[in-house]
Amino acid sequence: MIRFCPACGHDSGVMHHGPEIFVCSECGHRHWFNPKPCGGALVIRDGRAMLSRRAIDPARGTWDVPGGFCDPFEHPEETARRELREETGLEITLGDLLGIFIDVYGATGRSTLNFCYLATVHPDAEPVPTDDIDAIGWFGPDELPRPEQLAFRHTSEVLEAWCRTLRGT
Ligand SMILES: [Zn+2]
Repeated sequence: MIRFCPACGHDSGVMHHGPEIFVCSECGHRHWFNPKPCGGALVIRDGRAMLSRRAIDPARGTWDVPGGFCDPFEHPEETARRELREETGLEITLGDLLGIFIDVYGATGRSTLNFCYLATVHPDAEPVPTDDIDAIGWFGPDELPRPEQLAFRHTSEVLEAWCRTLRGT
């Protein structure tokens, strides 16, 4: 997953110790493959969930829950607010934490830890897709895109979790 040591740049003799860590044979630097935390929000209005269609890879052309990677020292709640602002122009009001979902980011093999919140917006607020997104859709629990039309594995899990809250199970 990493060829060059991020500490000394050494190019050979890197020893892999399973998927979690490697140790540089030159300088002894240890690099841990900790999951990357992400924050996102499922905005609900009139019983429908808002999804965004990705205009960039990975998973270009599929429906996603808006969100993104946490900045250093940024709480996932603030990440969710910031990403929704950047991707859709919406100022959201966060509700409950819907769940924490483990996933892998595209073909990188890197694991993500996705904090997903329920959220609401002002009834008159209209989302505007930005460069990373080419469409925004609102989907009722019976109108959701098919699993193969969703961006990531955890996108399905987020929507299943939402449907469970609607059923009260
Ligand atoms: Zn090194």
